[in-house]
Amino acid sequence: MKTIIGITPSHQNELREYYLKKNYVEAVLQAGGTPLILPITSDENIINNYLEIIDGLLLTGGIDPDPRYWGEESIPGMGKIDPLRDKFELSILKKACRKNMAVFGICRGFQLINVAFDGSLIQDIAQVENNYLKHMQQAPRWYGTHEIKISDNSLLKEIMEVNSLLVNSFHHQVCGKIGKGLKVSARANDGIIEALEAENKKFLLGVQWHPETMYRKRKEFSKIFQRFVDESKR
Ligand code: MN
Repeated sequence: MKTIIGITPSHQNELREYYLKKNYVEAVLQAGGTPLILPITSDENIINNYLEIIDGLLLTGGIDPDPRYWGEESIPGMGKIDPLRDKFELSILKKACRKNMAVFGICRGFQLINVAFDGSLIQDIAQVENNYLKHMQQAPRWYGTHEIKISDNSLLKEIMEVNSLLVNSFHHQVCGKIGKGLKVSARANDGIIEALEAENKKFLLGVQWHPETMYRKRKEFSKIFQRFVDESKR
């Protein structure tokens, strides 16, 4: 039995090019999945065709979602926006959830899950007066720099089987209001939400960190990809 995992790339539309870090593909492969990169499209029929082919959906990292999706206009700390990617990923994500497909979001993908369920993001934590930790680390990508505390009775806890983890951190945006039907699976020690999942036990999981750049040196992170591929198989 093949388990096909659709993976969303980023792109530069002006250059007519798609991009995807190989770590995402390799993390799916080592978990026994068959990765399939899904070119960004605005054609809903093509999106429906993708969903006929794939068993699970992996939303990857990338640039900032457009704050108009949660009713705000951009502040100066906002990064680049890719309107075509935003529209594509929100569409395929919502449709995948309606089909009860296993969905895993990493970094931007995690943030998009919150936005898709009517949550909001803080556009730039540097603009917020608070004693936040450093969430845009300057250590190597495989190296964890801040701790997270994992919520009891969460899917993440069931997968990782620990109360806390050291994770990497490459984000300047964070979750604000939590989306409907989602619950917090982990927080950093400054209160920042680092993982979200569905309240109803379906496999809808998002993590703010990048397990795909850690699993080779920290084997426990491959458990997330393993569980995601296993759930996609069902
Ligand atoms: Mn972080």
